[in-house]
Amino acid sequence: MQRIPEPLKELVEQMARLPGLGPKSAMRAAMTLLKWPEAEVRRLGKNIHELRDRLHLCSRCGSLSDSDPCPICADPVRSRDSLCLVAEWDSLLALEEGNFYKGQYLILGGLLAPLEHSPAESLDMDRLTARLAEGEVSELILALGATAEAEATASYVRDEVTRRFPNIRITRLAQGIPLGAEVKFMDRETLRQSLRYRQELN
Ligand SMILES: [Zn+2]
Repeated sequence: MQRIPEPLKELVEQMARLPGLGPKSAMRAAMTLLKWPEAEVRRLGKNIHELRDRLHLCSRCGSLSDSDPCPICADPVRSRDSLCLVAEWDSLLALEEGNFYKGQYLILGGLLAPLEHSPAESLDMDRLTARLAEGEVSELILALGATAEAEATASYVRDEVTRRFPNIRITRLAQGIPLGAEVKFMDRETLRQSLRYRQELN
């Protein structure tokens, strides 16, 4: 990087810290930017520059939005009695992509490490309890995933919510055999969960 002009060097060093980019691909990306029409590059720079000003966290659900409350929280058609708890914003995006859930969301901000039994700083439990205390939510859907971290977080959240809001129904996304998969190819844990959360056949 010695002979690289300073402005380019600085940009490449910064971009190399992005996920999926190392120094080499950051350099390739920077070289591509230099070949773009000037207006395009300026627009990219402007977007990056304004990102922090134009985007904020929704005060209701904690998701990224350019308005507060975000369009989901502000939507009068969505039901207010079911609240779906996700770890991060990208889980919300994945669920919204499917267009089958018509309730509200809340972003927890992370997951607990498996052996951790008290809330990490990253978990937004205050936002969750404040929301439940409003009294509108009758069902809390845990959509945290099926990892050890998700399990630890789910049982922590369940205990906290049951203790403070005993009337709120707590559910979780079903776990088990994915569509199109065969029993003989399932790992033991998936099979165990599938058996545990088996359903009535009707
Ligand atoms: Zn929101």
